[in-house]
Amino acid sequence: MATALAMLQASMRECCDCAALVKCRSRVVPGDGAVPAQVMFVGIAPGRFGGDITGVPFSGDRSGILLRKMIAGASIENVFITNLVRCNPRDERGRNRDPLAGEIDNCRKHLDAEIAMVRPRIIVCLGAMAWRELAGRDAPFYPTRPNSLLRDGAMLYPMYHPGYVIRGAYDARNYLRDFRRLRRRLVSR
Ligand code: URA
Repeated sequence: MATALAMLQASMRECCDCAALVKCRSRVVPGDGAVPAQVMFVGIAPGRFGGDITGVPFSGDRSGILLRKMIAGASIENVFITNLVRCNPRDERGRNRDPLAGEIDNCRKHLDAEIAMVRPRIIVCLGAMAWRELAGRDAPFYPTRPNSLLRDGAMLYPMYHPGYVIRGAYDARNYLRDFRRLRRRLVSR
């Protein structure tokens, strides 16, 4: 499986589908983790102080440190971590920006390939952008009252993006409680 994942990651690293992203990225950042995994976390895009430098999603920046602390704090193992988009999107001043709809569309094939390989039982959508991409534009985003939508046999599960907690919009203790609830869901499934 490690070889299959390495091959998939290598094919993603060749991707040049988005001209603007090819210009501003330092590297392509494929998803990483266990294959198969019981849970897959899907964020937005690698950050310029994180994945764009380290090559690993949610690593080296505040969002990554918080996400990984929560996963460990709730004793969740066997995870795969990825993003909607595999390149760091920047604005004209070099700051992180949200990926454009066309960039998310272009990168969707990579996400679908990861889901097919990882075969997660639960796909955690970190934030409304990931939720809407996977659950549908009109699906209400209720991270504090997770509902279970199924997609190809995997449960889609909404949670806040760690950046939301870092901005102070949601309490870190409640965030850890949410991760513990996710773990209970994994155990009971
Ligand atoms: N780092 C990531 O890999 N994804 C995000 O959504 C934010 C930071």
